[in-house]
Amino acid sequence: MKILLDKESLHQGVADMARQIEAAYEGRQLTIVGVLTGSVVLMADLIRLIQLPMRVGVIQASSYRGATTERGDLLINSELMIDISGRDVLLVDDIFDTGHTLTRVIEKMREFKPHSIRSAVLLKKKGRAEVDYVPGFSAFDIPDEFVVGYGLDYEDMYRNLPYLAALEPSDLEKHAALP
Ligand code: 5GP
Ligand code: MG
Repeated sequence: MKILLDKESLHQGVADMARQIEAAYEGRQLTIVGVLTGSVVLMADLIRLIQLPMRVGVIQASSYRGATTERGDLLINSELMIDISGRDVLLVDDIFDTGHTLTRVIEKMREFKPHSIRSAVLLKKKGRAEVDYVPGFSAFDIPDEFVVGYGLDYEDMYRNLPYLAALEPSDLEKHAALP
């Protein structure tokens, strides 16, 4: 795999984003909601870097999509989510690609009447947005490549890699041959 961002660069980018979030919400209580499953690694790091009183929750969004397949139906499960009504909510996700996932999750969350809702993502893919929305906070802009690691998966694997890497055709062959 081709490493795009190593552990240290990831930490630096996430720490910078944490400082921006602190500045934006200074003096307020934050409700941070992570989108399962891709945001779990970012969430674990980010919530420990933000020095603000906060509540933490999750929401689940799943679309059946791999490196080569098209975006499938998006399922949003808010059953597990904490109460966000009247709260200042920061939605956290791994990557903003076309933007359809994040905007649909936000639409769903608005039904619960938060006071405000903004979003923070680890990655934004350059030149891919198909929606009229930009995440409030993002740590890195990356080229249009399929990436894994630091929470991002290919067929539910590689989320545990401590770096961010682009999957190349030879990696797909190795993946297919895994026991
Ligand atoms: P969007 O709806 O913005 O096009 O896609 C967002 C979702 O697609 C992300 O939450 C993520 O699950 C998946 N996705 C988009 N690009 C990538 C990528 O490069 N690598 C991985 N692992 N997932 C991606
Ligand atoms: Mg995701």
